[in-house]
Amino acid sequence: MIGAVEYQDAESCRLSRPKNVLQGASRVADREACLIYFRQAIAEPLSVPPWSEWWSANEELVGESFPLVDYVRLKHRKLWGAQQILQIEGELPPDFAPQSPLVSGACCRCGERFVNQPEAEAIGDVKCSSCGIKYLFVHGPEQE
Ligand SMILES: [Zn+2]
Repeated sequence: MIGAVEYQDAESCRLSRPKNVLQGASRVADREACLIYFRQAIAEPLSVPPWSEWWSANEELVGESFPLVDYVRLKHRKLWGAQQILQIEGELPPDFAPQSPLVSGACCRCGERFVNQPEAEAIGDVKCSSCGIKYLFVHGPEQE
């Protein structure tokens, strides 16, 4: 493995787990650490790792610190699921409209760095290359 360079980001964004903390208290701390990532990923996505990297490093922790319904929501809806959890918590208004990916630099659905699909860009549309959601410029993604 001489000269092999491993991609370290997924490891470096793994949330640290405090030792010697009661299991219940630890779960609350883990959950809050995830919520901090969610808030940041929605408000300023380029300041945190993209969803896929964060999720691969923290999926197990999410499974242990969130109810199953929220774990499934996050697994399938990704950053959109995180937004919904913050809305359920009352941290974001029910009619919260995420930023355009052209402004934020990231897709508000899948949480990946935003790359417009070339075919969409050619006709003036905005469509995420990662998840395929088509965006309206002002109001975020089209409703499904
Ligand atoms: Zn996307």
